[in-house]
Amino acid sequence: MIARVVVDVAANQTDRQFDYLIPEVYEETTVPGVRVVVPFGPRKVQGFVVDIVQSSDYELKKMRSIIEVVDVEPPLTDELLSLSWWLKEKTLSFHIAALKVMLPAAMRAKYKKEITINPEFDQRKLPEELKEMFRNPTNKLDWDEIHKQLSEQLRKQLTKAIKNGHLVVESIVGTNETKKKRKVIKRNKPISDLQKLIEDLPKNAEKQKELLTFIINEQAELWPVVELIERANVSRATVQSLVKKELLLEEEMAFNRDPYEGRTFKKSESLSLTEEQQLSLSPIISAMEQHIHRTFLLRGVTGSGKTEVYLQAIEHALSSGKEAIVLVPEISLTPQMVTRFKERFGSLVAVLHSALSKGEKYDEWRKIRNKEVSVVVGARSAIFAPFENIGIIIIDEEHETSYKQEESPRYHARDVAIKRGDYFNCPVILGSATPSLESYARGQKEVYHLLTMDKRVNDVKMPDVNIIDMREELKVGNRSMFSNKLLEAMLERKEKNEQIVLFLNRRGYSTFIMCRDCGYVSQCPHCDISLTYHRTNQSLQCHYCGYGETVPTICPECESDSIRFFGSGTQKVEEEIKKAIPGIEVIRMDVDTTRKKGAHEKLLSQFGSGQGDVLLGTQMIAKGLDFPNITLVGVLAADSMLHLPDFRSSERTFQLLTQVSGRAGRHEKHGEVIIQSYTPDHYSIQDVKEHDYVSFFQKEMHIRKQGGYPPYYYLTLIHISDTDLQKAISVTEKIVQFLKGNLSENTITYGPVASAIPRIKDRYRYQCMVKYKVEPKLITVLQDIIKTYQGEMSRTDLSIIIDTNPYMML
Ligand code: ADP
Ligand code: ZN
Ligand code: ZN
Repeated sequence: MIARVVVDVAANQTDRQFDYLIPEVYEETTVPGVRVVVPFGPRKVQGFVVDIVQSSDYELKKMRSIIEVVDVEPPLTDELLSLSWWLKEKTLSFHIAALKVMLPAAMRAKYKKEITINPEFDQRKLPEELKEMFRNPTNKLDWDEIHKQLSEQLRKQLTKAIKNGHLVVESIVGTNETKKKRKVIKRNKPISDLQKLIEDLPKNAEKQKELLTFIINEQAELWPVVELIERANVSRATVQSLVKKELLLEEEMAFNRDPYEGRTFKKSESLSLTEEQQLSLSPIISAMEQHIHRTFLLRGVTGSGKTEVYLQAIEHALSSGKEAIVLVPEISLTPQMVTRFKERFGSLVAVLHSALSKGEKYDEWRKIRNKEVSVVVGARSAIFAPFENIGIIIIDEEHETSYKQEESPRYHARDVAIKRGDYFNCPVILGSATPSLESYARGQKEVYHLLTMDKRVNDVKMPDVNIIDMREELKVGNRSMFSNKLLEAMLERKEKNEQIVLFLNRRGYSTFIMCRDCGYVSQCPHCDISLTYHRTNQSLQCHYCGYGETVPTICPECESDSIRFFGSGTQKVEEEIKKAIPGIEVIRMDVDTTRKKGAHEKLLSQFGSGQGDVLLGTQMIAKGLDFPNITLVGVLAADSMLHLPDFRSSERTFQLLTQVSGRAGRHEKHGEVIIQSYTPDHYSIQDVKEHDYVSFFQKEMHIRKQGGYPPYYYLTLIHISDTDLQKAISVTEKIVQFLKGNLSENTITYGPVASAIPRIKDRYRYQCMVKYKVEPKLITVLQDIIKTYQGEMSRTDLSIIIDTNPYMML
């Protein structure tokens, strides 16, 4: 028997299957979908078995054997394996990338390079210093470790010895799956003995007695140390002393890390649906009952009860023995959101999001694979949940661009959802208050089945939206970042003890350092972008490459000391609010305050429990907040995103403003939204006022039609970058010529143009774009381009990235 293996070497030359013999011991376990370790040239690498065949074109005598099978059970199901072929083709990625993206990070292979002395080489001939290094118990060296420590000269000797074959480098495959271990405490004596022993403890050992009493009275057999300390209200030292006295026992135990463990969820029952909800749910249920794949686009205003529709659709799937996948954008995966699913489906829910550690994600993934759960709620990558009997797939906030992966494989979760829905003959629900233009256009053409919910539940009114013309404020002499109206509204809320959400559009509004005398702006030396000022550690940082420096006190150009920071980052806004309204309490959420794990959740729950008058933040507060006491939402600079060089900037502005506005007055108290803008007449701002998605859609479609943009046309973007500017330009030119010469007449190729940020990390960036309605030759032509440059890409700094469905135009 022969296994076809896709090896974990991401290169064009190796992007195919290799045949390996299956040793007898592995005949049982070598099945499609398992990971194996195979010899590959001089190395050992990991790979995926994608097929088992009887014969091969490759000469049997020369064929090598599988070294090891990594998995007992294949992590990839047959369906996911076949999906990988589709994914590879659709995104023009390596097959190995398409396979690996389906697994949790902890299961992606990790390599360790080991250096040993070639047994066929006479060791005595090695330079003395090198020989010395191998005098350790294993007679081996770890390349990564040793590489960093060596002197320049020794490193040269080492590299030379490897080149000459005196030393051998071997890649050892390891994985970083780990099970979490935790310290637990058990009784070391029967309860009756312990009761007697309490008496023997010294008189002043009050705490020890308390702890023993607690342990005697508790029914449990063991306690995680942390929990015991908290519940018995004793110190770690107290526990330790009883362990020393051998009354208690401390052990390490492996745990399944459930991030929600220890939290009990009260069961929530299905709500009786509103008429709009009922009308939306029925066709979904009927698709499920008839086992047909259909994509529904549920457009429902914020607070219309979309989530309840999802929950009941899932309930139906579960009751017929099927599984459900729910995708939620990363930033909406708040504890509030998760709780709603946990309360309905309890321990049947697995949660996958990036705040989990690698190990925690792996545990959740295993529960899915072992069928211990039937619902997964997660961010983008959860779309690959290895269920085998899917009954429904839901994508909430389907317009979110985070559903598109911006690294290889550049897939969109929506496409994968529909592909899987088709395979399992099950419905897919795309939900949003502001669907993407692409999806809504498909809804209108009945490619997707359109469902609409225009009213909020319980007759809650949509908030009043006021748009403030900031140019007028300037005219009457108000130079602050708050309009009079917003300031008054904030004062009023503070008096009434109601809460305020203040939203600052991050894009384009970070702070930078500028010299007032000569206009010098601190720039990153490696990227064509200005550095961002971080007050917390008084530094300037590049948000593209991470370069950092300290804040200059005098201008490097003209030596003036009038060099200051400009713009209005969240820190600046916080200061200004406090100045304007003394005594106001601000909870600020931005990259600086949410860096620590769990900080994001903590700040939100503080605000939710009534602490703080103002929640101030960027994009990360736009979604998922549902607190009854929020009655005012202020948007400081609505149009900062409108002028980005991206044809979707109006769409994004409308979506974001609608989302933010949706945070106000979701319950009994009426909500108000104040949007400050310098271009208040723009339709993407005006239509937010009327909560009129359809009006916005029509205007924007008109503009897309005129400009020849999606959804009227498809786009493919090709990024070319190199450390050599001339090379970047000339390769882009050649690619443009090739595209023009080989694609159909109706297809338009644009370029070469420099990217909006022409240099990042010292790489010059160029691009060209293909625009088409129907282009059957596209994939082959693009593959030809990759083939043409593959050699050059592996030898030089040249990089070519093809994005067949671009969302980032920068
Ligand atoms: P959306 O997801 O559309 O923004 P939600 O699902 O968050 O809306 O619903 C808004 C609020 O209305 C939530 O507090 C939810 O519990 C409540 N709700 C939803 N459906 C019903 C219903 N049928 N009856 C009563 N309350 C409901
Ligand atoms: Zn200057
Ligand atoms: Zn930089």
